[in-house]
Amino acid sequence: MSEASFACMINCMDGRTQEPVIQFMKQKLGVSYVDAVTEPGPIRYLAEGDSPWVENIRACCDISVVKHRACAIGIVGHYDCAGNPVEQGIQMKQIDDAVRRVRSWYPALPVYGLWVDASWRVEEVIADIPQ
Ligand SMILES: [Zn+2]
Repeated sequence: MSEASFACMINCMDGRTQEPVIQFMKQKLGVSYVDAVTEPGPIRYLAEGDSPWVENIRACCDISVVKHRACAIGIVGHYDCAGNPVEQGIQMKQIDDAVRRVRSWYPALPVYGLWVDASWRVEEVIADIPQ
């Protein structure tokens, strides 16, 4: 029996963004499964600072990283986000801040910032790879 391989995504709860991001991360990283940590517009919370939302996100990520040995984390912003209804430029800054925060939690893991556009295509906007 071969061991399953995992990555972890911090995604919006939006149903339109789940499958595209899972497929993108599976192809990019060659993993079997992508653990899903979902909140409405999580990049906003991760960019703003400590809060119960951020604590919950971190607790979920810890399970993925510790129990499933997730090899990387993807953080997702997307077009038409109901939970974080701000323009793309602001979301890009939030993704940047969110990647920085999650990087501080897991210094050894690659952390990717991903954008899902109006066609539900996934674009990698940041790749923060430890040396
Ligand atoms: Zn959303």
